[in-house]
Amino acid sequence: MCVFCKIVKGELPAKVVYEDDRVMAFHDINPQAPVHVLVIPKEHIPTVNDLKEEHAELIGHIFLVIKKIAKELGIAESGYRVLVNCNSDGGQEIYHLHFHLLGGKPLGPMVCR
Ligand code: 5GP
Ligand code: ZN
Repeated sequence: MCVFCKIVKGELPAKVVYEDDRVMAFHDINPQAPVHVLVIPKEHIPTVNDLKEEHAELIGHIFLVIKKIAKELGIAESGYRVLVNCNSDGGQEIYHLHFHLLGGKPLGPMVCR
């Protein structure tokens, strides 16, 4: 089972900031900015390449969750970055789809590899 599936199942600890029936969000273990949260579907979808039409509503829901978390963590107005890495050239390390939510300082041209 992958690391993020273990977090979903409660088998690995995480600093959870949001959870519902389909989505979970928790602080990155190695933050690249003052706010660095990972937002994941509970379903094990390895990469963006594995998305299917049936996931369209889930992905929309994830962005609404991101918007809510950004507001709650106080970065909605100052701004933030949302990014997803895919496969090796994208720098993906964990093969369970996740959205990086980064903010809390001017981020510069690139963060998260
Ligand atoms: P990727 O490179 O796959 O887009 O990003 C994976 C992210 O997951 C990295 O930023 C890394 O710090 C984070 N990460 C890896 N293992 C764990 C873990 O066990 N717990 C948490 N909270 N984050 C993790
Ligand atoms: Zn998984």
